[in-house]
Amino acid sequence: MALAITDACTGCYGCQTVCPTGAVRPRPPRFTILAASCTECAGSYDQPQCAAICPVEGAIVNSLGLPLNPPGSLAPQTPFDQTVRSGPWASS
Ligand code: SF4
Ligand code: SF4
Repeated sequence: MALAITDACTGCYGCQTVCPTGAVRPRPPRFTILAASCTECAGSYDQPQCAAICPVEGAIVNSLGLPLNPPGSLAPQTPFDQTVRSGPWASS
């Protein structure tokens, strides 16, 4: 099992700096993941570090092609969102 990087990658270097196995390699102007070296971070971390740091939705996918950061998952929360969620009118 291994993750993969799609053409959505912007080449920010983030995932390369955190990969514990050196599986992330340059593929200018983006990066790629060497499947043989990717452990999905098993034994090192409780979640894939590349996906945890990646700021681009859809840039990292699993072996089924499903994004670990799907559309909308990295959308910033506004102060208004946070107020609504924590205020007395927040739904439980
Ligand atoms: S899942 Fe872990 S081992 Fe695989 S490329 Fe991402 S950071 Fe590296
Ligand atoms: S963290 Fe995401 S956008 Fe940055 S190089 Fe890795 S896959 Fe590309």
